[in-house]
Amino acid sequence: MPIHEKSLIDPNQVLSAEKLVIEGVDVSGHWNTMILPRTVADYDPEFQKKIKALPGGENVHRCWQCGSCTNSCTMYAINTDFNPRYWIYCTNLGLQSEIVKDKDIIWQCVSCNKCTNSCPKDVKPEGVMKALQHWLEAEGHVPVSQSTQFDQEFTRQCLERGRIEDSEVMFNFFRKTGVDIVELVKKGWLGVFVARMNNLPLLRDGKLGKFIARLPITGPLKMGWMMLFKPRTRGWGKTGTVLQTYLEEQKHG
Ligand code: SF4
Ligand code: SF4
Repeated sequence: MPIHEKSLIDPNQVLSAEKLVIEGVDVSGHWNTMILPRTVADYDPEFQKKIKALPGGENVHRCWQCGSCTNSCTMYAINTDFNPRYWIYCTNLGLQSEIVKDKDIIWQCVSCNKCTNSCPKDVKPEGVMKALQHWLEAEGHVPVSQSTQFDQEFTRQCLERGRIEDSEVMFNFFRKTGVDIVELVKKGWLGVFVARMNNLPLLRDGKLGKFIARLPITGPLKMGWMMLFKPRTRGWGKTGTVLQTYLEEQKHG
């Protein structure tokens, strides 16, 4: 028997008499509570299939609602609104409007996989969370994530040239996501990265000779060259077209 969510029960459908005695037995208050049946019209019978078709969502139909995933969930311990069992329940019933309601917290899954380890039915709840996030993004309920934008740039270069250039991927990713590269060099991880590449501690210690000898010159020059001339894998044209066609077919099912 499924666990019913309080949020899905219309308070007007709950009947409860404050004072009631039946055949001499006092069943006042919650002892006589009845919930009238309701008709749900806004469900999508295909929703479960859509989530099953996404990576990670394959086993969502196996759930028997034991709640082990939610009990073990790292995020549920912090915020009880984060409830994988409930979202899996809604997925299997086609209640996508309930998923959309929680669009701003589903992405908070930290992929610790405690839920996956504790699930007795091999549902892989962590994968279902990812599938739901992808569905929300694909349907336009949430903005395109930075990781998707990174993937898109990575895939574009692979398809076009059969290889990627790291610096070009990063450059285009920063440009598309509006990251301020100068600020990132000044205060963020990119600054730390550049400082380490350039052996700045040597300069601080006054070892100018060693610092100059270890300056990474050929690497950045090579990167710049690749960015300008964009080399391709030899004979890539046909392979790229085949892969592109395959991806289009997958997308349009
Ligand atoms: S992987 Fe996500 S859903 Fe699963 S336990 Fe960790 S935070 Fe919770
Ligand atoms: S642990 Fe598995 S079977 Fe139990 S509620 Fe979560 S997904 Fe369903």
